[in-house]
Amino acid sequence: MRGAASYNSVQVDLKALQANFKAVRSRLLPGIRIMAVVKADAYGHGLEAAAEAFARAGADCFGVGTVEEGVRLRRAGLAGEVVLLLGVAPGEAAEVVENRLSPVVFDPAGLAELSRLAERRAGMVGVHLKLDAGMGRFGVVPTDLTRLAALIARLPGLHLAGLMSHFPLADVPGAEERCREQWQLLQAGYAVCLPPADVPRPLLHMANSAALLRFPWAHGDLVRPGISLYGYSPLPAEFAGVVPPLQPAMSLHSRVLQVKELPAGHGVSYGHRYVTSGRTRLAVLPVGYADGYPRGISGRAEVLLRGHRAPLLGTICMNACMADISSLPLVQAGDEAVFLGRQGEGFIGADELAAWHGTISYEILCRIGAMNQRVYGPLS
Ligand SMILES: *Cc1c(COP(=O)(O)O)cnc(C)c1O
Repeated sequence: MRGAASYNSVQVDLKALQANFKAVRSRLLPGIRIMAVVKADAYGHGLEAAAEAFARAGADCFGVGTVEEGVRLRRAGLAGEVVLLLGVAPGEAAEVVENRLSPVVFDPAGLAELSRLAERRAGMVGVHLKLDAGMGRFGVVPTDLTRLAALIARLPGLHLAGLMSHFPLADVPGAEERCREQWQLLQAGYAVCLPPADVPRPLLHMANSAALLRFPWAHGDLVRPGISLYGYSPLPAEFAGVVPPLQPAMSLHSRVLQVKELPAGHGVSYGHRYVTSGRTRLAVLPVGYADGYPRGISGRAEVLLRGHRAPLLGTICMNACMADISSLPLVQAGDEAVFLGRQGEGFIGADELAAWHGTISYEILCRIGAMNQRVYGPLS
């Protein structure tokens, strides 16, 4: 965490998170709940701060990865339901019960222990049973669903809070029919899992950001947006029409450490993979792969200086990179540099960084957020 901390900072705009939450909510019928997905330290934005922002904006519950993240939310005073998307590992049942966390369940192992501990503490643990409707990841295969649902119904101290699945193809053009079949598989599972009439019925949920934007028929009782809350669309450009206005919340700021001129024919950075073709003004910046800025984007990346884009030259180093400022004569040492986010009229989004790197915005946000000191703007 936090390479070159004194020079670089990630700024997180909490009002943008809240505006995104409202933009997502505007796509839902009244009564449909929202699980704000805050796993992976809220996609690099900071778990506690992001969860608080979403809670104040009206989030009903929160999706985290690990028990550790769930405990952190409770310590921060968060009261809503906290769902453990990765389930419970052996030995974690006591913490789950003590912290009133709600695990996703996809395997009978560990359920008896969870039940015993819940009963001993006279509590009830809500579990979300996960069906693998085609993802090929966490989840029970359809043929085992009834048996696992029956086991949950039998075990004291446990109640079925949700029946869920996950779309593998919600962002894929042309896959709507297969998505519909997967949703129908979950609905069919619901029919066989329903508890007796005197027990509250479980929430049916399957939609991530892509599905909730594209498929209103897949909203169920609850939707689970992640990336859209952080200001990015998971969908390719052809679906822009279904995406509400979203505001990227994370930006990466640094400043120019040195400005210099190099003569023609001078190599820049390790391996001299770039050699100047004429006199070149260079800004040396203290941002590199140890700050989450991928070395793999060397040769494609740009940075904002005085509101304009400047290309980075040569290989990105561990804690440094070099921008060509030959066409920006006013840039001087101490100037702010923006690697991700807005500066003046300029904007570089995580989508664009991701395209340079052959990845998705999610990965860029996680790594830049995790590897820098974070500073928060006010809540709305
Ligand atoms: C991460 C995750 C989500 C959120 O997905 P986005 O594409 O970021 O909206 C939803 N559901 C589950 C189970 C997840 O793991």
